Amino acid sequence: MDTKMENVVIIGSGPAGLTAAIYASRANLAPLMIEGYESGGQLMTTTEVENFPGHARGIQGPELMMATRSQAEWLKTRFVTKNVTKVDLSKRPFKIWIDNDLIEAKSVIISTGATAKYLGLENEKRLIGRGVSACATCDGAFFKNQPVVVVGGGDTAMEEANFLTRFASKVYVVHRRDSFRASKIMSDRVLNNPKIEVIWNTELADVEGEKNVTGAKLRNLETGKETTLAVEGIFIAIGHKPNTDLFKDQIAMNEVGYLLTEGKTSYTSVPGVFACGDVQDPIYRQAITAAGTGCMAAMDAERWLEAQEHHHA
Ligand code: NDP
Repeated sequence: MDTKMENVVIIGSGPAGLTAAIYASRANLAPLMIEGYESGGQLMTTTEVENFPGHARGIQGPELMMATRSQAEWLKTRFVTKNVTKVDLSKRPFKIWIDNDLIEAKSVIISTGATAKYLGLENEKRLIGRGVSACATCDGAFFKNQPVVVVGGGDTAMEEANFLTRFASKVYVVHRRDSFRASKIMSDRVLNNPKIEVIWNTELADVEGEKNVTGAKLRNLETGKETTLAVEGIFIAIGHKPNTDLFKDQIAMNEVGYLLTEGKTSYTSVPGVFACGDVQDPIYRQAITAAGTGCMAAMDAERWLEAQEHHHA
């Protein structure tokens, strides 16, 4: 690849990045999308998506992302199916490396997303999207009138457990210690909810099931005793990690690594670098909100580039 000056380089190809690509393409910015080897983001590991507007009978996560990618491609977004290995955002033009290849850019849109943390069990990984989930908002409705398990003791676990009581017959919260990390108000909601039973000092030892989850094998950490709960849904709620290692010490982040954006914009601490989607959103984390902020980032980049040109004219 020869070094070439790009108007906009978009890093990350989930709903946020692809929407930014669609908007930037339609603004005639000829964006370059570096989609990564694992393109499409978190929706690639979900099955049914029932809450993305416009799909009267729902759609499969990968199908939604492939359609959105095709749309961006049809609008002439160029794609590089590799991972960015290094960036230098300290001066303009910005520098982006893919191994030894250098790309220079007038502006950058970061949409590298976040990764849900999992426990690392082999069967847990195998059954993601088949009963194992990290998103109650996405998958809770599939477990109507059934018992489910939530693993974790932070605010996310509390929120997921409470939300799941709308559908599930019973929610078991499995936590490794004897007290929650979550805020008192959120913990109290869980402790006072008659549909929730907390199982303290216990870990998820294994996930049972061939094609789909059929049970959660639990291990009491004090007694070592193992039991199995017959459930078809297991929600892992032990936190997310924003994918921002590349940008460490270059862009302002909060204490756990989410990029900070200014007010109701996609502006980061570096002028000309914009962020959208889960990489800057620890709260909503939905495909539709990611897509919305992707649109904002493309519009912010377009206006910023235009202002720069006027400035230099
Ligand atoms: P947290 O890091 O706060 O909590 C993670 C939980 O998962 C902890 O209880 C932890 O246990 C447990 N855990 C972590 N790793 C493992 C493991 N390997 N095995 C078993 N359990 C594990 O993450 P959250 O996602 O809950 O929250 C992240 C941030 O977002 C927090 O600041 C939170 O307050 C905020 N948030 C706020 C919300 C709100 O206000 N509406 C909603 C959701 C999140 P242990 O306690 O033993 O460490």
